[in-house]
Amino acid sequence: MKNFYITTPIYYINAEPTVGSACTTVAADVVARMHRLLGENVFYLTGTDEHGEKVAETAKNAGISPQDWCDQMAPKFIEAWKLLDISNDFFIRTTDSRHKKVVAEVLQKIYDQGDVYQDQYEGWYCVGCESFKTEKELVDNHCPLHPPEKTVKKSEKNWFFRLSKYVPEIIKLIESENNYLFPESKKSEVLAKLKAGVTDVSLSREKVSWGIPLPWDNSQTAYVWFDALINYYSATRFLEEKTDFWPADLHLLGKEILWFHAVIWQAMLLSAKIELPKKVYSHDFYTIDNQKMSKSLGNTIPPKEMVEIFGVDASRYLIARSFPNNGDVDIGIGRFKEKYNADLANNFGNLVSRVGKLGDGIDLEKNKLELSDKYVDLVNQLKIDEAVNFIFETYIDKSNNLLNEVTPWKLEAGDPKRIEVLKICAKNVVMAAYHLLPILPKSCQVITDQFDGKIRPMESGLFPRIK
Ligand SMILES: [Zn+2]
Repeated sequence: MKNFYITTPIYYINAEPTVGSACTTVAADVVARMHRLLGENVFYLTGTDEHGEKVAETAKNAGISPQDWCDQMAPKFIEAWKLLDISNDFFIRTTDSRHKKVVAEVLQKIYDQGDVYQDQYEGWYCVGCESFKTEKELVDNHCPLHPPEKTVKKSEKNWFFRLSKYVPEIIKLIESENNYLFPESKKSEVLAKLKAGVTDVSLSREKVSWGIPLPWDNSQTAYVWFDALINYYSATRFLEEKTDFWPADLHLLGKEILWFHAVIWQAMLLSAKIELPKKVYSHDFYTIDNQKMSKSLGNTIPPKEMVEIFGVDASRYLIARSFPNNGDVDIGIGRFKEKYNADLANNFGNLVSRVGKLGDGIDLEKNKLELSDKYVDLVNQLKIDEAVNFIFETYIDKSNNLLNEVTPWKLEAGDPKRIEVLKICAKNVVMAAYHLLPILPKSCQVITDQFDGKIRPMESGLFPRIK
């Protein structure tokens, strides 16, 4: 059996889940579920990133210990993903002692390679990003992604990782047939940055106690990124699954953390002599009603709010359908309602209900269900929107057009023409539902059950119109 290992980033635990984190999680779930339909042995990993200065600071402001803070926040992510019917096989927390052990082992390997040295660091640091910034990355002297007060001047003694040593090899890999980075636009972006020159990065923190101590120097903790990235590997070590899922087939992540995954993570693995992941995919962002999504603007949409309006399956559908694979995508509750009514209520839902009612009792031959290669290919490329369009065009729109053309409701119940057209449409409905199972798991299961061997009417509308 073929293995397939897919990951989302582990989400930073200082804030609650939003439609932004749901975007990556739902897209990964669609890919994972599709690979299960293909008969593969899938391992889908998500989790929370719980160390670092920002978490310590947030916990302090809340008047509790960082561990208590994490223990309160992690369940919010677990619940949000349960609510969205996410089929992850494990949820990793970086405060898990088993993870910490693997982090220490990997860092020790990097140290043993001679890829770590001590140096004084001085420069600008954004507490929001938990990363040092070069002068070039600053806008008006601060990190453009966070409020000005988050950018601070730092001077400390750190352990550094020889990132620069691995840059030629990484460039060669990205430019080769074995390129792991997609889509194309992100590949060029990373290559340009690599070729512009890369300096070594600090691997530890002197004054951050909320982290994993370095195995060779207990006075310093691992820089949160060096701890977090290792989660993808550590879970495949400490879980002791029957299968060794490493290397990952696909790391899915947003563009703000592309550099860490496309370059730093690869260099760490090269240094530790661990196999590299096969693919890294970086997506763009959602904007909400044409504004950047942000906590301070208060315009984020919690998954819970979406589910209250649209239900679980339709929320997944709307999130996946807007997946930003080629530039930022503007979303909003108003837009979602339009899309829901157009696609699910008026189109797919209406077709299922018409065919069920008109064809009640008609026998259907069993067909072998198989996913179309084109659909599989589009989903693997994260072109989920195009994949859904393809299914609508191939099965759903075609059937609606056929019904409107033949108007079987005007024909007698036993008319062979009526039976024939309803059989064709029912077959298309089943094919559409089968392909859309990874996106609409519960509703599409109901549809395929209802049309199994015989057409039966749906008891209630699957996707009632929303005002
Ligand atoms: Zn920042």
